[in-house]
Amino acid sequence: MYVKPKKNLGQHFLTSEKIAAQIAGSINYPIDEDKKAGCIEIGPGTGILTKYLMQNPRLDLSVVEIDSESVEFLVANYPSLSIEHRIVEGDFLRLDLCKHFPGGFPIVCGNFPYNISSQIFFRILDYKDEIVQVVCMIQREVAQRIANHEGTKEYGILSVFLQAYYDIEYLFGVDETVFNPPPKVKSAVIRLTRNGVKQLPCDEKLFRTIVKMSFNQRRKMLRNSLAQFFTGSEAEARFLTMRPEQLSVKDFVELTQILSANRQL
Ligand code: SAH
Repeated sequence: MYVKPKKNLGQHFLTSEKIAAQIAGSINYPIDEDKKAGCIEIGPGTGILTKYLMQNPRLDLSVVEIDSESVEFLVANYPSLSIEHRIVEGDFLRLDLCKHFPGGFPIVCGNFPYNISSQIFFRILDYKDEIVQVVCMIQREVAQRIANHEGTKEYGILSVFLQAYYDIEYLFGVDETVFNPPPKVKSAVIRLTRNGVKQLPCDEKLFRTIVKMSFNQRRKMLRNSLAQFFTGSEAEARFLTMRPEQLSVKDFVELTQILSANRQL
């Protein structure tokens, strides 16, 4: 049985066993000796990475795959996974993860479909209280954007949101030659590990609004893009002429604190 790669599903099957093993081996979330941790693989395709994740005795692996042909392939080739009902056919962006994986899912892994990788990260953020570590392969530019800090041109909304809750490590780059078909872009593997922040010390909803509004007009100074929030207070002065890519997560938190105080005046 052969699964023909489907472009609209972002299917670029990895062909290097070595890199598959390296990705699976990059999970370093500490798991107690006598315990197992739930792990969801997003988009297993024909299972090259799945195979190595299954070899890790500490992982309780489940996979979510949208493509019925790939699911059929997995059921036929990975009987132990399918007997334990750990192959879920569905859209990761729409699944109620807590319902499908009641045993918990501290780890998420995968060679993500690049066309929806940002949406996957926003979904991961929805489950940040549950997901402790993410090891994934994505488009290299997106990896750089997520891992980069303020002051770089790649820094953006997703960098701020993810860095607020996760420590991010850029692990290694992967060439397009080890995929079938080769993607037009280069790839990279990153690891996200949940930091100690349960809740940001500010109004989190306003924080999200402010980050989005600032980056939506990335080249403008904050006094323009956030004009409606500023009141002329002294505390806000240092932010007025800044551009969003100059603000660290901590700066955005401080700005949110100031602007919510303004609102209560
Ligand atoms: N892990 C495999 C396949 C990677 S390609 C490998 O490394 O070879 C990305 C995979 O994600 C494809 O199998 C594609 O069908 C699947 N996919 C795409 N959109 C998805 C979604 N919304 N939810 C779950 N899986 C999805």
